This record gives sequence, structure tokens and C-alpha cells, in this order.
Amino acid sequence: MSLKKTLTIAGSDTSAGAGMQADLKTFQELNTYGMVALTAIVTMDPETWSHDVTPLPIELLDQQIKTALSIGPDAIKTGMLGTEEIIGRAAQAFKESDAEIFVVDPVMVCKGEDEVLNPGNTDAMIKELLPLATVVTPNLFEAGQLSGLGKLTSIDEMKEAARIIHKRGAKHVVIKGGKALEGAEAVDLYFDGKTYTLLTTDKFQSSYNHGAGCTFAAATTANLANGLTPREAVIDAKAFVASAIKNGWKMNDFVGPVQHGAYNKVEKIDVQTEEV
Ligand code: ADP
Repeated sequence: MSLKKTLTIAGSDTSAGAGMQADLKTFQELNTYGMVALTAIVTMDPETWSHDVTPLPIELLDQQIKTALSIGPDAIKTGMLGTEEIIGRAAQAFKESDAEIFVVDPVMVCKGEDEVLNPGNTDAMIKELLPLATVVTPNLFEAGQLSGLGKLTSIDEMKEAARIIHKRGAKHVVIKGGKALEGAEAVDLYFDGKTYTLLTTDKFQSSYNHGAGCTFAAATTANLANGLTPREAVIDAKAFVASAIKNGWKMNDFVGPVQHGAYNKVEKIDVQTEEV
């Protein structure tokens, strides 16, 4: 049987722990044929690791999308889009494709930077991306923005945010409590429109976890492309990223990426599920 094809529309992280590099590594680990349409290139100052984001000309993104769609992706994922125009193009790409799976990772900040990339982007994501999303994977901050609830600090607030984001059109919502939610465990909330399920693993070291969010969404995409149900896809994606984080490594004085291959090559980690 031929491989399922997974396309990411995302930025390039030159340090290669996050962004399209994380997506491709994850797609490969999970046996799909990964493809990329690049939105921007992120470079880091070697002295300070401050990030520079250089967007690609929109025509070049259009050309990439055209090429990629001609190859026929089974699933499309979005990562860092960066502008309202690119958010619109990503939505359009999914509509023009024959893909039935659209995983939206609503990236709002570039790790290491505190600034929201552009506040107008949030509205564009709500309007253009959520209604198309098979699964949307906001972290705690992004879920607060997409729901309009602001800062989320408890499971009850996450449930309310998930309900609102689902109502805005996303068929399945995972809010990643991750390291941002207090406690000894890394807890995410999955909502399919009916049932709320907590997905929990131990909380591992958080120093070398660069790329965790991208890796989780990419694993969800590959799992869906390979025929898992959304619930199975996110549970297995959490197991995948938990191994990757536990086995993260120090790259330099500034950053340590997750180890994308740890799930296949080092260890598998159990995910506890509980309906709430
Ligand atoms: P980040 O924003 O740091 O990239 P996310 O919050 O997007 O990470 O989380 C991605 C996935 O990794 C989620 O499933 C989250 O629960 C998990 N995760 C994040 N930090 C940890 C940690 N320290 N230990 C275990 N899992 C974690």
C-alpha cells in the first residue's frame, strides 16, 4: 500500500526542533510521506538566540501550494502562518485540495518571544481556520485567545474554552495544558463536541522541549492520515510527544529540542484518559 501524504503549511525553524522541520521528522517517524509549503524562515542570532522571522513572498507560497496540491495530500496541517493573508491562503489550500483532514495548530507566539505575532491573526484564525478544522490544537494561551476567555488556569476554564472553540466550527479540540498548567502531570483536554476527556502523562523536564507543540500537531495529522479516529490520533500523538520531550536534549546555551524519534527508538509512554 502506498504511503499517505501529509502536507504542512508552516515556517522553517533553522534550529530544526520546531516548525516544518519538526513536522517532517514526525511525519517520517509515523510513516507518512511528508511535504512542505513554507511560509517564512526563522533564524536565530548565534549570540543571543533572538529570532528573526522572514516571510516568503506570497506568490512563492501560492506556487508551493499549487505544486503540493497537485501531488494530492491526504491530510494538511498548518503551523506558523504569521499574517492574515497567509491564514486565508492556508484555508483556501485546504478547500481546493481533496484532503479530508485539516489539523490546525494555531501558532501565535514563536517560542522565546513573548509577543503575539499579530493580533489580527487571531480573528482570521477564528473566521477562516476553525470552521474547517478536523482537529485544532491550541496551547493554554492560544485557547484563551481563540475562545475570547483570556487567561485559562483550570480544567473547568479549559472545558469552557473547548466548548466555545468547538462552537466556532472546529470538529475536535485539544487544549494542551502541558507545562503551562500547574501540577505534576502534563494534562491536555480533548473535546469532540460531546465528551470531555483528560489526556495525562507525567510532566517531564521542560528545559529541552523546543518543538513540542509542532510535534504534537504533526503526529495528530499523521495518525489521522493513517486512519486512526480523532480520539485515537490525539492520544497516540500525546504518547509520541511525551517520549520526545522526556528525551529532549541540550543543543546550546539557549535551546534544547525534543527528540522526534524517541517514540520509535527509545521508549513508549502511557497516556491516561479520564472523562470529566
Ligand atoms: P509547547 O507550547 O511548549 O510547544 P505545548 O503546550 O504545545 O508545548 O504541548 C505539546 C504537548 O506536549 C502537549 O501534549 C503537552 O501536554 C505536552 N507537554 C508539554 N510540556 C510537557 C512536559 N514538561 N512533560 C510532558 N508533556 C509535556
